[in-house]
Amino acid sequence: MSIVTPKGTSDMLPDVARKWQFLLATAAELFEAYGYEPIDTPIFEATELFVRGIGEATDIVHKEMYTFEDKGGRSLTLRPELTAPVVRAYLQHNLGGGGRLVKLYYAGPMFRFERPQAGRSRQFWQIGIEALGAEAPSVDAEAIVLLVRYFERLGLRDLQVLINSMGCVECRPAYREALAAYLRGRTPELCPDCVRRLEMNPLRVFDCKNPECADVMNEAPEVADFTCGDCAEHFNEVKALLAEAGLAYEVDARLVRGFDYYTKTTFEVRSSQLGAQNALGGGGRYDGLAEMIGGSRTPGVGFALGAERTMLALEAEDVSMPARPPVHVFVATVDETTRRAAFGIVGRLREAQIAAEMDHMGRSLKGQMKQAGKSGVLFAAILGPDEAARGECTVRDMESGEESAVPLADLEEWLAERIKEEIM
Ligand code: AMP
Repeated sequence: MSIVTPKGTSDMLPDVARKWQFLLATAAELFEAYGYEPIDTPIFEATELFVRGIGEATDIVHKEMYTFEDKGGRSLTLRPELTAPVVRAYLQHNLGGGGRLVKLYYAGPMFRFERPQAGRSRQFWQIGIEALGAEAPSVDAEAIVLLVRYFERLGLRDLQVLINSMGCVECRPAYREALAAYLRGRTPELCPDCVRRLEMNPLRVFDCKNPECADVMNEAPEVADFTCGDCAEHFNEVKALLAEAGLAYEVDARLVRGFDYYTKTTFEVRSSQLGAQNALGGGGRYDGLAEMIGGSRTPGVGFALGAERTMLALEAEDVSMPARPPVHVFVATVDETTRRAAFGIVGRLREAQIAAEMDHMGRSLKGQMKQAGKSGVLFAAILGPDEAARGECTVRDMESGEESAVPLADLEEWLAERIKEEIM
């Protein structure tokens, strides 16, 4: 076949799609229990939203966006992340009216033109939260706890929690200046991209994967030496709350995540089961983002986690995931008339919450029984013309081979009782 998935994308075939559904269902249940509500925004947005929100100096805006002009001449971009769109929706619909804290969660595909490798693709799936409208460090701590508890609930054990404080509009400029001054002294060791980053936003040099740039950054000034009293107090409280929740973490002074909008707390959860792409999820506080995209000041905190990497980690830790739910009953038929009757029976069984299947391939009775055996059903209900005429069918217990004549009128009840017994 000559037309296949575009580079950096993949199909979620049923086995993987079922895991994704499980990730989603687990997230919805847990996030709702933490008071978060679902939100969904368009796959594409005005390009300006990301340019202003994420920042021009970031790799995402500079090299990774899927930007196109639509037939009306608008510049649109496939969303590379969902924080800026969710904040846009919050502002557009005045969700915070009355000064309340708005807690939202989402899930869906994101798009970044990155070099594909294990755990990194061009279309990838994220699940995330945003809490908008509160300055309190308890909201930061709650987000961190929730991210970790989510991974734990899925069954992951190998988790490292890294946190940092990036300072705020008050204290970051001095740090930025100090970092730029330091980097200017080491320009010959930096890659051309970092030389450009240095002038646009020196913090972005932390994102560079080049080992020589990483060496330079290892000796760079640390943001902690520049944070103002307010930021330090906020960070101390976040740490105290994490301790209160019994959550183990490490402070990593180099955790400067790749978006310009972060202020104060940033965090990341990693798994050592993954290779180079070891970040399962991360986030932080972004008190300036709403203003950057043209709204009024709105403090916020959020995180996003990657579904593919989470699935890789689950596999690496050998966590069992839900398998295909069993089909309980196969209704086997002998000829055209009974086939039609079987169609009605299958429908009634399904309405009674009994997972039922029948033949759609014109197989012989023998072929149907073989198919029933292969698919692992608990029972086969065989509908022959004589039995149908008597208003009955023969139900075979596939494990014991025992057969019983069951009146069609009682079939749902008869099966429901025995399926319950078999499953319990
Ligand atoms: P970010 O939005 O960059 O903070 O990323 C949050 C999470 O999304 C990461 O920790 C990854 O799990 C996931 N992620 C980010 N970029 C990609 C990508 N290109 N491919 C797969 N997962 C990704």
